[in-house]
Amino acid sequence: MQTTPVQSPTMQQRPLLISSLIDFAAKNHADTEIVSRSVEGPIHRYTYAGASVRAKRAANALTSLGIAPGARVGTLAWNTFRHFELYYSVSGMGAILHTINPRLFPEQIVWIANHAEDEVLCFDINLAPLVDKVASQLTSVKHFVAMTDRAHMPTMSTPNVLCYEDLLATASPHFDWPQFDPYTPSSLCYTSGTTGNPKGVLYTHFSTLAHTTGAATPDALNIGALSVVMPVVPMFHVNAWGTPYVAASTGAKLVLPGPKLDGASLHELMDAEGVTVSLGVPTIWMMLLAHMQSSGATFKTLKETVIGGSACPPAMIDTFASKYGVDVIHAWGMTELSPLGTACRLKPKHLSLSAAEKVAVRAKQGKPIFGVEMKIVGDDGAALPHDGKAFGDLLVRGPWIVERYFKEEKSALVDGWFPTGDVATIDPDGYLQITDRSKDVIKSGGEWISSIELENIAIAHPAVAEAAVIGVAHPKWDERPLLILVLKAGTAVTREEMLAFYDGKIAKWMIPDDVTFVSELPHTATGKLLKTKLRTDFKGYALPTA
Ligand code: AMP
Repeated sequence: MQTTPVQSPTMQQRPLLISSLIDFAAKNHADTEIVSRSVEGPIHRYTYAGASVRAKRAANALTSLGIAPGARVGTLAWNTFRHFELYYSVSGMGAILHTINPRLFPEQIVWIANHAEDEVLCFDINLAPLVDKVASQLTSVKHFVAMTDRAHMPTMSTPNVLCYEDLLATASPHFDWPQFDPYTPSSLCYTSGTTGNPKGVLYTHFSTLAHTTGAATPDALNIGALSVVMPVVPMFHVNAWGTPYVAASTGAKLVLPGPKLDGASLHELMDAEGVTVSLGVPTIWMMLLAHMQSSGATFKTLKETVIGGSACPPAMIDTFASKYGVDVIHAWGMTELSPLGTACRLKPKHLSLSAAEKVAVRAKQGKPIFGVEMKIVGDDGAALPHDGKAFGDLLVRGPWIVERYFKEEKSALVDGWFPTGDVATIDPDGYLQITDRSKDVIKSGGEWISSIELENIAIAHPAVAEAAVIGVAHPKWDERPLLILVLKAGTAVTREEMLAFYDGKIAKWMIPDDVTFVSELPHTATGKLLKTKLRTDFKGYALPTA
């Protein structure tokens, strides 16, 4: 049979760009609020319509500072409305937003900003001392902009610092967002890199929009116009997991907590603004839960917390559900994945499970979001079965996953797949479970022990505030697990009691060989346990079994 030739194109080729998101929100959710705890202190509120106009003013202001399409604009800033405006003004005008983590060491910030060749650096006023420390070493920055009004301009040693509000006040509110190829770069984020130099992941408009639509879906973040979203994960850490984009794409109310991330401040904002879903790393929720417990408070409106960045201990999932009626949605991702790869939501078959069985499902990192493909491979690169038991190196591919790091010639892929550096199982229902970072797995007598599994058990002990497990050299077994604990204030537990706590929960040979107590554990700038430091600190540790 003869087929009729298709004329091309048959469908419109309107590019979806980051500016489309704020335009959509301003037109269709004009009066929906964006509420921020400002760095200056007071609560600031305006609407998507207001944010859209200010983003246009900011685009004009940046143009007057010489920012052209493709130029990088750095930010050192917390989650507030001004940072939100820069997300849209910079990417919308075709320039590249480079969000920098202020918790990095100053020398890392200098390296990253110079590598990115940032031309303008916008910063929050409480980070002015940090800017003063690094400014003279930033070789490409032509303008420093303090994200505040005239009355709050900080006193600084850096010369000619500009005032954000002054720039906006004199800029026109009219700006026609340019239309361009959706594969144009939009934003840049560096991986925290515990070893070697950080690597830049350069997102495009297309990758961001694809991630945004995937992330909003019911089985992922489940965000819509009825949601009130509070990203506690910082806007300098993988675009706050995409929430500033997802909120605009759905018209969700956005609540931005600014620099105050203590339990009491977060809880106050959640209740006052009717937050329904909040997102962050486990350490943030540890602080919030400690506050909830000591104050005896409850959540008025919170329904879900999305937890990722590090493994969420089952004990935390259980506490949220049983004490506060809040579902934890465990999620896994990476800077290289924009960041969302999986989210853990139940299937119909899970609904009749007991509470404890549901916690066991929710403790997994979850199912891939449509668009993300995953596989696990053994040492020989051969694919392993998705049986929930076999574990191997996790590889991923999809439209919002990195192909090549910024300014690197070489592809980051292996046969078209991105090697994540994580070790995982995948079960027949498609649920991913991360066993470890490959470098953190404890290799004992040819067998692998999951440090995450040992930590999850320890954290369920009522006296334990935080737990880390690392492999320590052993003459017979190569490595054996050492449990390092921070105890809750006013509690006590002995080494023997702690080891006995593992009985019946895990194979005997996996139980740590020793327990040591510390006052605090080291963390990376993104809140993960800094195991490289622990391995250095405990190098040569004398295990009682050695
Ligand atoms: P980053 O690029 O800084 O977001 O770090 C990504 C890494 O964090 C992943 O490769 C994992 O090792 C770890 N990670 C993220 N989410 C989880 C999770 N839910 N459980 C365990 N590890 C996680």
